[in-house]
Amino acid sequence: MQPLSKYDGAAAPADQPGLIAPDTSGMNFYRADPALTDLLRIHLSDALFKHIEPHLDRLGGLAGGPLDECARLADRHVPVLHQRDRFGRDAQWIEYHPAYRELERAAFGEFGIHAMSLRKGVLGWPQTYPVAAKHAFTFLFNQAEFGLGCPINVTDGCAKLLSNFGGAALKEKYLDGLTQTDMSRLTQGGQFMTEKEGGSDVGKLTATAVQEDDHWRLTGEKWFCSNADAKVVMLLARPQGAEGGTRGVGLFLMPRFLDDGSPNHYRIVRLKDKLGTRSMASGEVKLEGAVAYAVGRLDRGFVQMAEMVNSSRLSNGVKSTALMRRAWHDAMAVARGRVVFGQRIVDLPLARRQLMKIMLATEQALSMSFITADALDRAEAGSQDAAALLRILTPTLKFRATRDARKVCGDALEMRGGIGYIEEFATARLLRDAHLGSIWEGTGNIVALDALKRAVGRHGADAALAADLHARLDDSANVPQAWRDRLRGLVDQSIGFARGVSARMDNEAEARRATSLLYHVASAVALAWEGGRIHQMRGDARRLLLSRLVIEHRVAARDPFQLTENSTQRAIAGHLLSERAAGMAEVGELLIAA
Ligand SMILES: Cc1cc2nc3c(=O)[nH]c(=O)nc-3n(C[C@H](O)[C@H](O)[C@H](O)COP(=O)(O)OP(=O)(O)OC[C@H]3O[C@@H](n4cnc5c(N)ncnc54)[C@H](O)[C@@H]3O)c2cc1C
Repeated sequence: MQPLSKYDGAAAPADQPGLIAPDTSGMNFYRADPALTDLLRIHLSDALFKHIEPHLDRLGGLAGGPLDECARLADRHVPVLHQRDRFGRDAQWIEYHPAYRELERAAFGEFGIHAMSLRKGVLGWPQTYPVAAKHAFTFLFNQAEFGLGCPINVTDGCAKLLSNFGGAALKEKYLDGLTQTDMSRLTQGGQFMTEKEGGSDVGKLTATAVQEDDHWRLTGEKWFCSNADAKVVMLLARPQGAEGGTRGVGLFLMPRFLDDGSPNHYRIVRLKDKLGTRSMASGEVKLEGAVAYAVGRLDRGFVQMAEMVNSSRLSNGVKSTALMRRAWHDAMAVARGRVVFGQRIVDLPLARRQLMKIMLATEQALSMSFITADALDRAEAGSQDAAALLRILTPTLKFRATRDARKVCGDALEMRGGIGYIEEFATARLLRDAHLGSIWEGTGNIVALDALKRAVGRHGADAALAADLHARLDDSANVPQAWRDRLRGLVDQSIGFARGVSARMDNEAEARRATSLLYHVASAVALAWEGGRIHQMRGDARRLLLSRLVIEHRVAARDPFQLTENSTQRAIAGHLLSERAAGMAEVGELLIAA
């Protein structure tokens, strides 16, 4: 197969060993990630796993090589908005660097990540893909390029909204393009919700819709429009005369071009100059009588859009996990490749502790991404319990993983020392991108409140979480009883705390802490459950040690004056930082040792 990119990333100079620490250039992000393989073996059928593994292997190689170089170039050569063509005619278009186009070709054309949930036959699989499989591709792709992750996800989300709520004629017209892998027929999606008046407070939005024959005309402004030149946009607007608040907003599909090929009546006024995701165009849009079509019930617009927002929140969690995994690979490349004071960084006790912190947050997020994706798959298959579980896992994952990504990417940057801060290496880009995850699709406060006030307070979804976590512990016969008992107690405590917080309005300021506790305890259970499935983990029980570290470092109260470094801690670090698997016999005692 031809290399995807003509831009070759330079590897670390072989003639100057150790002078500048190597980075991840040339790494295959799939092969370098046995935990990903193990979790896929747990969550997917054998047949599906066997089918996708060669594709993941290929994407892993591309993401560690040519796609990464494309991402670096696309980040530096940002999109440019043009208002006229060279003959002076008004024609609005966005110019992208060829590297961005190559990223698009890989994501949409070759791997079809956006289409996996809805179109059968992508990559030769006769069915659609479960979410857990789709997000394995999301995870690998976003280790190279985070900016395009948004268009992939919103295209997927638009197609899903249309498929769930759109009328037959709309589906006939737009669904095929949204799920195409033929680049000449693909129509990417966008989701324009935020206005100056309200991002979090969507009920304040002022864009107005007026009915005209079979369609509507939209006026107003949208303030944050990622993938600004998307061909098919889902957006919220208030039908003239509708009530205020979120109940009064309807969901509309707005095409970029009208049936006669002329541009629809809206303008991208300017592009945002962003800290991160610079490769992808986010703009401000003026609606000037734009033609749009109602999707689903007009008085259910917000509720319907929330479905897209929730699947985007899961995708966001996965993408933040991808940034953390990439940061981890980079930090380890430095720690193994650079010698300071006569020792490799990875052998220095303080650096080992820093590395473990990066590893811990990353592996927690990976486990949580998988159990959330699995809940979505089961919910879509009709399980009410899974739907309730999903309701609480989604904001919990989105809240904590996106926040952890900021810190992890910053810590990995520091591991590289001064050049980590220099844009020639990926670490600076990772850090800039990481700050977005906890803003879009709901800021940290908004998703923590969603988890506590709505998922727990209104829907009682905490019961589903408690049941799921207890069931996982029941299903972990290999895990030492004492550890299972410890986790059971913590599950009940964290759920009880969340209930207490959600029960009273004046506890609102505790929502973030309660959501973090749910996340940490759930991830500790998931890690233990995975670690105990020794067959699928190919004999490696080390995720049990991660389960212990989550509780020790992220949940348990600690005496700040007590020394914590001892032979148990050193043995745990030795296992986790080595590339060698450790079986149940080796980790079992460490799990409960003082
Ligand atoms: C790069 C980028 C791309 C984006 N792309 C899109 C897009 O494609 N489509 C789209 O619709 N939007 C998009 N957004 C917008 C994004 O979703 C919003 O910016 C975000 O939801 C926050 O809304 P806001 O900016 O109005 O902030 P505000 O809602 O004004 O929030 C300001 C602060 O108030 C806090 N806050 C708000 N309510 C509460 C509360 N009840 N309790 C405690 N604190 C609260 C928030 O946490 C935040 O810290 C994008 C944003 C960025 C940065």
